[in-house]
Amino acid sequence: MINEHIPICGEHHVKKEWRSTTFEYSDEGITVRVPNIYAWVCPENGEASFTPSTVEELITTIRELIDLSKRARKRRPVLTDYIVSVAA
Ligand SMILES: [Zn+2]
Repeated sequence: MINEHIPICGEHHVKKEWRSTTFEYSDEGITVRVPNIYAWVCPENGEASFTPSTVEELITTIRELIDLSKRARKRRPVLTDYIVSVAA
């Protein structure tokens, strides 16, 4: 994956770097962040391109978390940040 071909940032015309970053997904004002996810990152502005398999792997769980957060928002609209960690 890493040495196959290094993508170039279309905006800055520099090689992207394969490194860990934070995956972020927002829906209806709810944002889920997943740190320590590997992606191609532009060294100029830090914009990350996640591989389709990474997105596929994360999206089901993230959608469930967003549904859960919508219910939590109805229950306690005052609480706006939840940090969830899962031990490996
Ligand atoms: Zn760039």
